[in-house]
Amino acid sequence: MTERYEHYINGRPAAPIGGAYFESTNPATLEVLYEAARGTKDDVDAAVVAAGEAFENPLWRDLSPTKRGHLLRRLADLVGEHAEELAVMETQDNGKLLREMRGQLAALPEYLYYYAGLADKIQGSQIPTSSVQILNYTQREPLGVVGAITPWNSPLTLTTSKLAPALAAGNTLVIKPSEYTSRTILRVAELASEAGFPDGVVNVVTGYGAEAGAPLVDHPRLAKISFTGSTATGASIASSAAARFIGCTLELGGKSPNIVFEDANVDNAAMGVIAGIFAAAGQTCIAGSRVFAHRSVYDELLEKVANRARGIVIGDPMLEATELGPLAFDAQRQKVNSYVELGVSEGATVLTGGRRPDVDLPGYFYAPTVLTDVNNQMRVTREEIFGPVAAVMPFETEDEVLALANDTQYGLAAGVWTQNLARAHRMARRLEAGTVWVNTYRAMSPMSPRQGFKSSGVGIEHGIESMYEYTRLKSVWINTDEGPVADPFIMRS
Ligand code: NAD
Repeated sequence: MTERYEHYINGRPAAPIGGAYFESTNPATLEVLYEAARGTKDDVDAAVVAAGEAFENPLWRDLSPTKRGHLLRRLADLVGEHAEELAVMETQDNGKLLREMRGQLAALPEYLYYYAGLADKIQGSQIPTSSVQILNYTQREPLGVVGAITPWNSPLTLTTSKLAPALAAGNTLVIKPSEYTSRTILRVAELASEAGFPDGVVNVVTGYGAEAGAPLVDHPRLAKISFTGSTATGASIASSAAARFIGCTLELGGKSPNIVFEDANVDNAAMGVIAGIFAAAGQTCIAGSRVFAHRSVYDELLEKVANRARGIVIGDPMLEATELGPLAFDAQRQKVNSYVELGVSEGATVLTGGRRPDVDLPGYFYAPTVLTDVNNQMRVTREEIFGPVAAVMPFETEDEVLALANDTQYGLAAGVWTQNLARAHRMARRLEAGTVWVNTYRAMSPMSPRQGFKSSGVGIEHGIESMYEYTRLKSVWINTDEGPVADPFIMRS
């Protein structure tokens, strides 16, 4: 019988009120892995009520920030102890390489330790107003119930990027994970209970976006929504949040440029281009999907990238030797393929890839693809494909490539390959992207804030700045003068 997962509400598994479940499939083997509760508005309501009560519960509300940090540390330890189990689950769910998920899970406790350390460093300040009789100070308070909606491509890392700062700041959470990757988030919610978080502090409602995600966003008791996913969904979430004046953090899509100058180490740049677009089968928001190569190194770079792309070992993501697994689900594979066909119809040449590779598994595999004869105005260079498809374009001058790189609705990340220090700084300053990498690509740390510019997002994730996204600032004025209160028709400063 297929394994079954319930929601996780108020510290325990909760069957879906509507009684329905949906199946989750392994994208490499197409085996049904498990079924998970198909959440609806009623389940969301139960979870938000539990989170609201937990927020008011003295066990959580009055817990000292230092003790909140202890709980996060305990959770980090438990995640570390279960890292292998969680990594295997994520690979089975979304097809990413087990060796990549092992790396992500090994790093995951660091996210929790980092925010555990910050929990008791959320400080206000004392403001020197013009009256010495007045004591004015600020304090940062938790917001209340935070809704977190996350995608399937790095489920635990992207969820922990919200959960850790939100809990450190004293909020409670209702998480709606992607319908493709429900179970590791459920497992971590259980581990949060085991770590000692009071019931209702971490809740998970599984299910589809329209059925479980939308009612969460629209729930009147929600204090904030933190979302990672596509720009289209983010736009609809932003308008719902705006209508109710609640805050939102949005981490959205990208179409990032990866720029190789004539003075770059071309071998390193080729590795960076490969890492940028073929790691995780291109299913990363930061994918370096637009590659700009200076005309003098264009042929050399293209040859190196195409040769390596042709040699990438494609297959079972559970095997250590595999370098590229399947795409996460069938619609994703169809989308990638139709973009490649669209590019060809717009004049692109498929230098390599553009087809299903020979793999003896039935899953949603797609060969690493390099497109040439493309320009920055085609749909394949303007829209996010979210797959292993690089569009490579030549350029002549720095000003030209800056204009091309910035000519996009997105602003998530950018890569620059150059040995020229002054140019590196110039590019870092002028690129319209929240993250700029020079002579590296895909580097990330919970300590380093990241923000999507333009249509790539609103608000900050990671770093100290991210924790402030889960607080509100209050200004408190105390009159220390016990004498008569002055004329009410004169405003005092
Ligand atoms: P998606 O927008 O389809 O779904 C993301 C989540 O939102 C899922 O849990 C889904 O069920 C839910 N959802 C869908 N419709 C909803 C609605 N109307 N209301 C509420 N919730 C809804 O995105 P995806 O396909 O899961 O993820 C891929 C996208 O995520 C890509 O665009 C990628 O660039 C982006 N992404 C961004 C970052 C970042 O940090 N900027 C990181 C990873 C992925």
